Amino acid sequence: MHTLPSLDYGYADLEPYFDEETMRLHHGKHHQSYIDKLNQALENYPELAQLSIKDLLIKADWPEPIKTAVGNHGGGHYNHSLFWQILAPAGQDNKQPTGEIGQAIEATFGSFEEFKNKFSQAAMGQFGSGWAWLTLKVDGQLQIETGANQFCPLTVGRQPLFNLDVWEHAYYLKYRNRRSDYIDAFWPIVNWEKVNEIYLIHLN
Ligand code: MN
Repeated sequence: MHTLPSLDYGYADLEPYFDEETMRLHHGKHHQSYIDKLNQALENYPELAQLSIKDLLIKADWPEPIKTAVGNHGGGHYNHSLFWQILAPAGQDNKQPTGEIGQAIEATFGSFEEFKNKFSQAAMGQFGSGWAWLTLKVDGQLQIETGANQFCPLTVGRQPLFNLDVWEHAYYLKYRNRRSDYIDAFWPIVNWEKVNEIYLIHLN
């Protein structure tokens, strides 16, 4: 049984960047719904039901109907679980990437500003529902990418380091159709310490 991970902060703690009502619905309803549907799809497959969400996504070529359920609801579960982890209430600590991930971002993209622009452009350019990602490739290089719907880079062998949900349900209540305002609001609440931790765990 997959279960909804609890947040390390309250629904109102990301205000004024991400509003309380959106956080409440996004975590409690949208994310929960992916989990419910994933559990439902796995009901008759006890062996698969024991696998972690990561293992389900890494082995992407399941027979149907599992393949579609894992791709949609499994992706939805993993992607949101990561998203909650890489967010934190705004403060001095999360203005700039710290530690090794800060150095890797500078080495790859020239500067944090460059990276931020490229990532924001990618997030803006994702047509329709989807996510923007910073991933780690098998060769240890960083990559910005986007994917439609609940696509997860784990299914193609890349380790997600952080992500930004650009489905309208993530921003419509507060930002209406202004996705770029929502993207600007994301940067002050990135938990760079956590991103660095994830980077170090997966860097061989
Ligand atoms: Mn979402």
